[in-house]
Amino acid sequence: MAIVCIEFEVKTVKLLEDRILAEGKALSDSVLKVDGFLNHQVDPDLMEAIGKDFCEHFKSFGITRVLTIESSGIAPAVYTAQALNVPMVILKKQTSKILNGQVFQTNITSFTKGTSYELTLSRDYISKDDKVLIIDDFLANGEAASGAARLVQMAGAEVSGIGILIEKSFQNGRTKLDDAGFHVYSQARVSRLGEGIIEFLKEA
Ligand code: 5GP
Repeated sequence: MAIVCIEFEVKTVKLLEDRILAEGKALSDSVLKVDGFLNHQVDPDLMEAIGKDFCEHFKSFGITRVLTIESSGIAPAVYTAQALNVPMVILKKQTSKILNGQVFQTNITSFTKGTSYELTLSRDYISKDDKVLIIDDFLANGEAASGAARLVQMAGAEVSGIGILIEKSFQNGRTKLDDAGFHVYSQARVSRLGEGIIEFLKEA
């Protein structure tokens, strides 16, 4: 049966860009704070629109699982999974290695905190037949998304796509994921940050 994601037209990318401009704060020329609707307080209506937009983009990819990283990916990922009518799986951030063989783990360096952690996936929730859509809130250097993709591949499944809410296009994550051959769809693409400055890439 065909997947229906959006019953009426919502310009989600415009909604997201407008919220970033209205509420986002550039903490430096590389870090954007969006605590008011995504990272601390969550706007469910915006997350629902975001989920429907990811669904619309990826509906023909045969997605069987949506995968995200705790904690800020969870809200958009759950709406995406609901729209695609598939389960959503959360990758956990553990401080140390788990050695019981029940999980896949890979080491990630956090862009915002500068610390590293073990991104962890239970063997129970992704199998080799899965076609996985990875959703994350931000794309900076591509560490988190690449690590999530490695875990999917360790489970023998396919990374069918990567959906990002806010890509900082001036950092190297997008190029890294494109070069690795992943299909990446970013809703808002920030081209420049600075004191009082938030600019977006103009689509050609
Ligand atoms: P990457 O792994 O691509 O270097 O960084 C992506 C991760 O770091 C995201 O999961 C997000 O949690 C965090 N992150 C990166 N840049 C920003 C930013 O400018 N603002 C916020 N709030 N989080 C960011």
